[in-house]
Amino acid sequence: MGSGQVTSSVPSGPSEFQGKHVTVAGLGVSGLPAAKALHARGAIVTAVNDGDDARAREQAAELEALGITVRLGDGATLPEGTELIVTAPGWQPGKPLFRAAEEAGVPVWGDVELAWRLRGPDAAPWLAVTGTNGKTTTVQMLASILKAAGLRTAAVGNIGVSLLDAVLGDEQYDVLAVELSSYQLHWAPSLRAYSGAVLNLAPDHLDWHGSMDAYAADKGRIYEGNQVACVYNVADPRTEDLVREADVEEGCRAVGFTLQAPAVSQLGVVDGILVDRAFVENRQKNAQELAEVSDVDPPAPHNIANALAAAALARSFGVPAQAVRDGLRAFKPDAHRIAHVADVDGVAWVDDSKATNTHAAEASLAAYEPIVWIAGGLAKGAEFDELVANSAKRLRGVVLIGADRALIREALTRHAPEVPVVDLDRTDTGAMLQAVTEAKRLAQAGDTVLLAPACASMDMFTNYNQRGDAFAAAVRELGA
Ligand code: ADP
Repeated sequence: MGSGQVTSSVPSGPSEFQGKHVTVAGLGVSGLPAAKALHARGAIVTAVNDGDDARAREQAAELEALGITVRLGDGATLPEGTELIVTAPGWQPGKPLFRAAEEAGVPVWGDVELAWRLRGPDAAPWLAVTGTNGKTTTVQMLASILKAAGLRTAAVGNIGVSLLDAVLGDEQYDVLAVELSSYQLHWAPSLRAYSGAVLNLAPDHLDWHGSMDAYAADKGRIYEGNQVACVYNVADPRTEDLVREADVEEGCRAVGFTLQAPAVSQLGVVDGILVDRAFVENRQKNAQELAEVSDVDPPAPHNIANALAAAALARSFGVPAQAVRDGLRAFKPDAHRIAHVADVDGVAWVDDSKATNTHAAEASLAAYEPIVWIAGGLAKGAEFDELVANSAKRLRGVVLIGADRALIREALTRHAPEVPVVDLDRTDTGAMLQAVTEAKRLAQAGDTVLLAPACASMDMFTNYNQRGDAFAAAVRELGA
């Protein structure tokens, strides 16, 4: 881990936008508030958008009423005179607009970069979290811990409340718990978090980033300029590599979290207790007890890891041990994340519809045994061999649904040929009831039926929420 001068940690004042030609790329959740904030600071704003559907036209009318120029149906050409682009995070770096910007020497910021630049001089520091899976859960745990310590805080970022709203709103904060996606990090060159964490790294969104290395490098930006701690996952050495590559403030430390007994400068688990050997006096000899594994809901291994990461960030901000315990006890996971739906005849029914990729599903499968696994949907280019090979011994049976189920079936044939598989050749909405019926037939007392699809839901459902709701409704219909 290098240490270096952080020259851009001082935010530029709002006046820097006066008279500046700024192009806002993409209307919608981040574009609309960005365009308004820039306009209010005297920028000459042009908003561009690829689509021109009814919603975009509605938003365009709102901006035009303020005197902002809007160009719908053309997000590719760089408006003349543009000095800065503020883009929606999802816009891919390879787009022609950005190539034109690069040729013209025009900088590109995302919504997070804009929020970072617009925050006031006494603004709350950011404790930032990224990773392939577990971001939302960890940020919510972190906010709960910070609140238990009596701090004014909120879970913000890629999680409902936009950073721009949090930074520009009237609410006063002592510290923010910030969830950042790899896209947002890509477009946030001068962001400097107080402490940052990369929870894990597995292939995801590679079509957007171009390669695993590029994806990892964008995630690793969360460590740039950290002041107190770079929190990494001991079980995922690539996260530690990213810490080593980061340029941080003098004195900033690498702090690992592990499900094993912690070494010095780590948080870990000893005999069912979460312990801290990083933020304690004399850490060669001492460890501080933080909470019990049973304080974490659900106490699945990956979720204990999330709790440790949240605790590490909170402890880096000086939060006492008791607040970690109280905050974790107060935390309730969002819907469809290992949600316990019912126990029927000794069989537990669990909804992890949010397990939309193989990494999440593998973590989920690791938490139970024996399992009747309901899986399938849109694979998004994923491969299932590793997931199936690592989970095979836990499987009582499998029920497959969705468009890309053949990919999972083939992996099961290769790595778990003895496990019974029911392949449902339908993608209509009634398929879930049939899937649950088949799962019930396969399950024995003591088993868990786990919906952890390892796939996106849009082939059959509007989103993962609807998929999870359909599962829970079917379980109830079948006699819970
Ligand atoms: P994100 O915000 O990164 O999508 P969530 O907290 O919403 O993360 O969880 C998404 C999915 O990932 C859930 O299905 C959950 O079971 C799984 N998950 C949560 N934490 C982890 C982790 N640390 N490692 C692997 N999978 C995880």
